[in-house]
Amino acid sequence: MAGAASHTSILAGVLDRLAHVLGPSNGFIPLHVPEFNGAEKELVTKCIDTGWVSSVGSFVDQFERDVAAACGTAHGVAVVNGTAALEVAMQVAGVRPGDEVLMPALTFVATANAAHHLGAVPHFVDSAAETLGIDPVALAKHLRRIGQPSPDGLVNRETGRRISCVVPMHVFGHPVELDELAAVADEFGLVFVEDAAESLGSRYKGRACGSFGRVGAVSFNGNKIVTTGGGGAIVTDDEALARRAKHLSSTAKMPHRWAFDHDEPGYNYRLPNLNAALGVAQMAQLGERLEQKRRLARRYIDGFCGFSGGTIFAEPAGAQSNYWLNALVLAPRITVAARDALLDGLNAAGYMARPVWKLMHRLPFHATFPRAPLPVAEDLERRIINLPSSAMLADRA
Ligand SMILES: *Cc1c(COP(=O)(O)O)cnc(C)c1O
Repeated sequence: MAGAASHTSILAGVLDRLAHVLGPSNGFIPLHVPEFNGAEKELVTKCIDTGWVSSVGSFVDQFERDVAAACGTAHGVAVVNGTAALEVAMQVAGVRPGDEVLMPALTFVATANAAHHLGAVPHFVDSAAETLGIDPVALAKHLRRIGQPSPDGLVNRETGRRISCVVPMHVFGHPVELDELAAVADEFGLVFVEDAAESLGSRYKGRACGSFGRVGAVSFNGNKIVTTGGGGAIVTDDEALARRAKHLSSTAKMPHRWAFDHDEPGYNYRLPNLNAALGVAQMAQLGERLEQKRRLARRYIDGFCGFSGGTIFAEPAGAQSNYWLNALVLAPRITVAARDALLDGLNAAGYMARPVWKLMHRLPFHATFPRAPLPVAEDLERRIINLPSSAMLADRA
């Protein structure tokens, strides 16, 4: 059967190149594992010794300064995870319940969840094959078709809801076309909030991801480039927004020596000092991680050079990616069945591989949400697989 033969040959081709890039699997190589080879144990122990393990402490302050510095913003506010960071970021940026929030269909579900939990409505838009993130040209075209200016901002003439915000996401750390996207946001009067959860350390035209929107959100989940176990941060240059983010994430409690007073419904989203201690140690290694990740990506790109079954996705022109996860973009003709056979074969051979996220509009609880035509995202969904990307693999073979 021709189909079966081509499944086998693409699997053999990928395995051959993986053995060259990573060496033998010797058991199982996971997609991504964290590395703790700095001052983690020392700082976490120090944190315990101070007794300040919860949501206030000097490690939180230090971590917030480190994250802001890495993102090139004046302020950072540490919270319990990246989803919480995005939710608070959208809220302080002015997203209101009932608003539509533009975001890529090709993202991790957290982007949509954050909007959803605010009472806003995710509105899914298409991606560009060159960046894997929101396509500014397709977005502008879509907004010209469905958008209607009003005194309260842009309104979706098909749903009657206000469209207040656009949330680009830098897929696997690859920056989207931020200048072009900012121009579209300007043209249509949209606030710009960056989902930089995957792109800590990535740069666009020399400037750090996270610093382009009114507010940005980063994640320190266990699988991200550096981790606090679980954690996130809101980053912004706007002091008033940073202060409100911190206030909202700490139950909106009014500062007072002993009285309990809260001026709005807040969240308990503050990052514990214990996690921040881990984070301070991890942030000190961000530069080293970036070098390792970029070295590994270079090996993948070279190792798959000339492969007819697909191409390793390389950073877009003008961008410096953190290469959080390496992606093999399979040749256009690949079918879902052939891709799944490839994934089965790779995992069975001890190289963890997985497909990209199911597109957001295909999740049943998103079925009624508005969306633009999604031809590029639908094509990429079938073609992208992620390959082992731990920083330590850079020097393995
Ligand atoms: C990881 C991630 C988040 C959220 O991060 P958590 O810390 O896991 O809540 C948000 N958006 C994207 C695109 C992510 O990859």
